Amino acid sequence: MENVPGLFASMVFDDHVMRQMLPKGVYLSLKRTMSEASALDEDVADVVAAAMKDWAVSKGATHFTHWFQPMTGVTAEKHDSFLSIDRNGSVIMDFSGKELIKGEPDASSFPSGGLRATFEARGYTAWDPTSYAFIKDDTLCIPTAFCSYNGQILDKKTPLLRSMDAISRQAVRALALFGKEVKRVSATIGAEQEYFLVDKKDYSGRLDLRLAGRTVIGAPAAKGQEKEDHYFGSIRPRVKAFMEDLDRELWQLGIPAKTEHNEVAPCQHEMAPIFDTANKATDANQLTMEVMRKVADRHGFACLLHEKPFAGINGSGKHNNWALSSDTGENLLDPGSTPGENAQFLLFLTAVIAAVDEYQDLLRISVASAGNDHRLGANEAPPAIVSIFVGEELDGVISSIVDDKVVRGGSTSGHIDIGTSVLPKLSKDNSDRNRTSPFAFTGNKFEFRMPGSSFNIACTNVMLNTAVADFLERFCCELEAAADFNSALNILIKRELGAHRRILFNGNGYSREWETEAMRRGLSNYKRTPDALIHYCDEKNVSLFIRHGIYTRQEMESRMEIGLEEYRKAVQIEASVMLEMLGRQVVPAAVAFSKDVALSIGAKTTVGIPAEGERKLCAGITSRIDVLSECIERLEESLSSVPSGIYEAAKWCADVVLPRMDDCRKCSDKLETLVGKKYWPMPTYSDILFYV
Ligand code: ADP
Ligand code: MG
Repeated sequence: MENVPGLFASMVFDDHVMRQMLPKGVYLSLKRTMSEASALDEDVADVVAAAMKDWAVSKGATHFTHWFQPMTGVTAEKHDSFLSIDRNGSVIMDFSGKELIKGEPDASSFPSGGLRATFEARGYTAWDPTSYAFIKDDTLCIPTAFCSYNGQILDKKTPLLRSMDAISRQAVRALALFGKEVKRVSATIGAEQEYFLVDKKDYSGRLDLRLAGRTVIGAPAAKGQEKEDHYFGSIRPRVKAFMEDLDRELWQLGIPAKTEHNEVAPCQHEMAPIFDTANKATDANQLTMEVMRKVADRHGFACLLHEKPFAGINGSGKHNNWALSSDTGENLLDPGSTPGENAQFLLFLTAVIAAVDEYQDLLRISVASAGNDHRLGANEAPPAIVSIFVGEELDGVISSIVDDKVVRGGSTSGHIDIGTSVLPKLSKDNSDRNRTSPFAFTGNKFEFRMPGSSFNIACTNVMLNTAVADFLERFCCELEAAADFNSALNILIKRELGAHRRILFNGNGYSREWETEAMRRGLSNYKRTPDALIHYCDEKNVSLFIRHGIYTRQEMESRMEIGLEEYRKAVQIEASVMLEMLGRQVVPAAVAFSKDVALSIGAKTTVGIPAEGERKLCAGITSRIDVLSECIERLEESLSSVPSGIYEAAKWCADVVLPRMDDCRKCSDKLETLVGKKYWPMPTYSDILFYV
């Protein structure tokens, strides 16, 4: 491969380019805006825009776009060319500060959950200067936030930026208690992305994959993932070529793709980048998904980002690694090795534990979708119950604090006196081996494993940042008012860890016993999206977001509506696709095959051969066609009687439509095993997952 450092970020208007191309004063002003997340000085914008345009044109770009993240979950863009006609009638390439700062896409067809009444159909996009502009497909892309003209937010990025400000404010305050002066604390994120690669020709041959992103029917292949020979297995040359190409494209965009490997299921892979600040990591992940699809296509593959493309084998998630980093370069979730560092770590750890416990419903809500419901609660991904795994050593420390027990190891063997004693050394390695935990401490960061592979991680991080900010604020208020900081800290940490201990769980998250135990502890267990989403606007949640200036009540109500509608639409599309495939492909195939068997029986009977096996087969298929027809009718009927309320419709889909789809699937999958291969009108699981 070419010179990687030269290639890296070559398509990004990053710090290096800015320093080269901007006058010093302008550069410094822009940098200030970026590091303090303050407002952009308007005079600066014209100069920056001109430099950006010159740079972009020199790289072959002809267009620009405000690149944003509406509530659809995918990114949106509307391209304008730089082309302009000057006073003399000559064509010039032009880009103004105004165009850089603000754009006006026709916003009326993005979901707004009732926020944007028709008389106020206009929305605008505003540059987020904390995320670098980049060139993609000859277009200069400017990362932006998306709002309506009356100031309501219509995207996923604005609340993320606000939540980053909220957690920064409170973390800066908390650090001041330890005598540290920092200007900003950033949430950092490394999003590990799982995906499937299947041959494009198989993908094209399946209506369900094309329209719904997952197979709605399909009998399991004779071999699944039971041999566990795919995980970290050697990568086949075709896939290797894809990964190299993917790395190259991502690197050009300044996305530090770091590890690529095979995952547990056949045809499943993962890419992990080096972590970055929350908004940049979110932008990068959105871009990664887009680039994966594009590069896959070039290599004759289809990249599946659905959470559960195939029944019976693992689905795909996105691990959201999360930590807090100060502008002085300190990771606040790193335990450190002195009593002072440990005390500070324990305060932040306590804030996270308390936040995850108190707002467990919000974390579950942030990962709720029709696709992800297939993962959560099945025996492969974290369960739908949110809990935290901290590892044995840290668990020992927490117990010793809460129960006043003696802790062994470390330089002090005795009671942990926060602020004066040293924690026993935590080994990083054994801490992340509990794969069943939805929220695991992995040495110096937390790994939230519930997000689905197709998700925009903004939402999850809004919840996490805001919830932790909330507890930091409560803690700061208490500690700032204390006469004796150290004893107040001891009291607070002991009390809060005791109060929120129920969220800690180190055992097997997949087990039945855990479900019972979690219920006993009063933890929520929302298995399906509507059950979770309906709690979004619970008073404590609304109050949280209003308090920290993230959402208004109306914005939250609209987001809940969008989530419920998205769920209903996804299930309805899947059901309709299923009906089409059953009616036009599966039933005709079963009829054709059984007819040929019947003809064979007829021919054999005339020459006196009884053909018992064929009779059985033919009768079996025919009776299954009968059952399937009934199931189809019932599914059709459930689709035509969806209630009109938004929540009621989503709940109907979960309660009635999905179970009826399951009935259809059972029948169809049985038929698939009976009908001759050459009659079956679509690629099967073994064709797709074990291609040569
Ligand atoms: P593993 O999944 O085996 O624990 P790593 O620890 O190497 O793998 O990292 C997984 C992901 O976590 C990577 O994307 C990495 O960049 C990210 N990560 C590491 N440190 C941090 C941090 N301080 N904040 C956020 N993400 C981090
Ligand atoms: Mg990991």
